[in-house]
Amino acid sequence: MPLWNNWSGRLEHHPEALRFVRTEEDAAALVAGASARGVSLRVVGSGHSHAPLVIGADEIIDVGAMAGVISVDEASKTAWVAAGTPIYMLGPLLHQQGLALHNQGDIDRQTIAGATATGTHGTGRTIANLSHAVKGLRLIDGHGELRELRQSDAAESFYAYPVHLGAMGLVTAIELQLRDAFVLEERSWTVPGDSLVDSISEMTENHDRFEFFWYPKADQAQIKTMHEVAERPTYPVAEEGARRAYSFEVLPNHRPHKHTEMEFSVPMSEGPACFMEIRALLQNTFQDVAWPVEYRLLAQDHAWLSNAYQRDTVTISVHQDVRLDECEYYRACEAIFRAYGGRPHWGKVNELTGQDLEAAYPRWRDWWAARDALDPNGVFLNDYLRQVRAQV
Ligand SMILES: Cc1cc2nc3c(=O)[nH]c(=O)nc-3n(C[C@H](O)[C@H](O)[C@H](O)COP(=O)(O)OP(=O)(O)OC[C@H]3O[C@@H](n4cnc5c(N)ncnc54)[C@H](O)[C@@H]3O)c2cc1C
Repeated sequence: MPLWNNWSGRLEHHPEALRFVRTEEDAAALVAGASARGVSLRVVGSGHSHAPLVIGADEIIDVGAMAGVISVDEASKTAWVAAGTPIYMLGPLLHQQGLALHNQGDIDRQTIAGATATGTHGTGRTIANLSHAVKGLRLIDGHGELRELRQSDAAESFYAYPVHLGAMGLVTAIELQLRDAFVLEERSWTVPGDSLVDSISEMTENHDRFEFFWYPKADQAQIKTMHEVAERPTYPVAEEGARRAYSFEVLPNHRPHKHTEMEFSVPMSEGPACFMEIRALLQNTFQDVAWPVEYRLLAQDHAWLSNAYQRDTVTISVHQDVRLDECEYYRACEAIFRAYGGRPHWGKVNELTGQDLEAAYPRWRDWWAARDALDPNGVFLNDYLRQVRAQV
């Protein structure tokens, strides 16, 4: 049986088959066949999730060959893009049309389907996550039928789909709301940990795109701001922290060191206090941890499983070297995050049960009902999803 593993190597799985699809017709035939045989499927993007979203199914489906921009509507600034398009490819392709994504994560290795499936985001007080750009989906449902779901068709109920965890079907294409291409100027500097509480409040008020990494051993934070500017880019693009270029050139970074990651989002007003508790935890109990804590802003949106569902949010991430055991550290962090009403990032580590998830995500049951309507036989469920569902 083939071996599949995620980006960090921490998650491994031997599915009965690893399949590749290139067309919607192939995908529909494959899903119809799996449904008839009672086989479960999980679709994979770039495998950059730390959560067990892809493992634990009979077969894994790779749609990486379905890549590129399918069509652009200049008037509405929307585009249909193929599901397997990596974000590093999408940026330049959209730029040729004078367009850009409104948000993206701090790497660009994910596929557009994989990134939107988990609510991937960068930073921005008034900027919602990347899934917020999803206006339509073409997917093969659990019967093997091709469906086109559009936001305009079903108003509120559409919000079940943008953050879908790969559980609604095999997504073949996504319609994205884009914006005009824009230039970002990035600045970066360090501040001592003790001054962070004041800095966070000031920075959050005065800078839309603000984030920092706090390094526990040095008790210092590397603050980063990014502003939209009218000036032209400066090439070659400078090192991270001092660059001015188009958004798709400034937002992604290199993250070569393999790690695991836990991220929770808490209400924006609770962010500073929550961060300070995590900092105290590292200083008092986990002095060996060298990996930084990341702090970002995220505007609220309406997607039912968005970690910023109807609340302006701060996201706080903790990391550990993939070769080290992070369990005790992450468990202690999770307890703090949960005390602040935290919601987990779907692509990262958490130990929440179905009951916990239901408490964190008010539309959890509605989301399952919408999912079941598309895939009543659970073709697109794996062990993890079946488990959290059974726990409700
Ligand atoms: C180094 C690193 C940096 C990261 N930085 C950020 C960040 O800055 N911000 C952030 O929010 N997250 C970040 N993440 C998390 C990452 O963005 C998410 O886990 C994202 O979902 C990964 O996308 P992927 O293409 O690798 O999808 P995968 O991890 O392969 O899959 C994710 C989900 O999408 C589903 N899926 C993928 N393609 C399809 C399809 N065609 N049809 C149906 N379902 C599909 C899968 O079944 C799965 O449920 C980072 C992860 C790493 C490893």
